[in-house]
Amino acid sequence: MITNLADGRIRRSATRMADGRELFYFDDSEPFVSGDADRTLAVDLRPLPPAGGGSHLRFDVLTGEWVAIASHRNDRIFLPPRDECPLCPTGRGTVPSEVPAPGYDVVVFENRFPSLTTRATGVPDLVDGDPLWPRRPGTGRCEVVCFTSDHSSSFTDLPVARVRTVVEAWADRTRELSAIDGVRQVFCFENRGEEIGVTLNHPHGQIYAYPFVTPRTSALLRQAAEHRRRTGRNLLADVLDAERRSGARVVLAGEHWTAYVPAAARWPVEVHLAPHRDVPDLAALDDAERDELAHVYLDLLRRADRYFDGVTALPYIAGWQQAPVGEGRELGRLYLQLFSVLRAPGKLKYLAGSESGAGAWINDVVPEQIAARLREVAE
Ligand SMILES: [Zn+2]
Repeated sequence: MITNLADGRIRRSATRMADGRELFYFDDSEPFVSGDADRTLAVDLRPLPPAGGGSHLRFDVLTGEWVAIASHRNDRIFLPPRDECPLCPTGRGTVPSEVPAPGYDVVVFENRFPSLTTRATGVPDLVDGDPLWPRRPGTGRCEVVCFTSDHSSSFTDLPVARVRTVVEAWADRTRELSAIDGVRQVFCFENRGEEIGVTLNHPHGQIYAYPFVTPRTSALLRQAAEHRRRTGRNLLADVLDAERRSGARVVLAGEHWTAYVPAAARWPVEVHLAPHRDVPDLAALDDAERDELAHVYLDLLRRADRYFDGVTALPYIAGWQQAPVGEGRELGRLYLQLFSVLRAPGKLKYLAGSESGAGAWINDVVPEQIAARLREVAE
């Protein structure tokens, strides 16, 4: 099925892989449809067994958080040689890849080794029959987003028009995944660099649709509910206003977006990007906001790559914090969190005793200095 997006600038084609998983092409260049010479969608001819799902969730009664137990993921592919890359178009390497088309602009598909899937089986029960330990199927969805068919490229190398297509893909997937029964939150993110634990070098990100509100968002909702009770206002909107008023940590400002280093940044490099309008998620952005986002997001990532002298590709995590689906949605507000574990060239910030053991963060860098550096490395 083919759908026009962004005033016809982008075309989405939906198909399925050999094992039944869904795959979506988002094409922004001629002939606007990934496929073979006849412009029909290529068929995945691999002899794959039907996709399954073996993960489950266990409730951590000590923290109130759900933990996904996904042991089958240990079999997943780890840094394969380039000619066996599963994210390159089929035909470029020596084995058929996950993407049957001979070329694509942006493609999204269900992860073959998902921590969460709508195919999860089983019913909620208790570990060892004890009511202290609820257990339920790992229902949800994990998708892979390939930002380009160019294996040796990187997000920061993309032209603005292609970034715009990625934004459209994120928005489209957020909208569809939010509609899945039981999904409570959709998280689009990119891990960049082997320092972050990337297992495939091809430029790609992921989208997780969780059947619970994530711990980070749960904490935010508690703070936002208290703020709403005291002031009647939205916490994230007030934080954005305060950052713009102060200006001390503002990195860049456009017509629709402002980037700032949070006042209590916890990473050695960290910046947030928020829309000026109150929107819950990427799907709620209008075309003008999406167009500008492509520019400012690329600008931020390129600044990150210039942050440390001698480091041309900063390892980073870029994640979209979106309002939950259902209860608490009115307290949430869209923003991007971009951060790095690198504290100096060749030196990683390890999450050691205080952070990993106690959850108490210590940042060696003053947030205002991070902002000053991010302003300094503007193009
Ligand atoms: Zn590749």
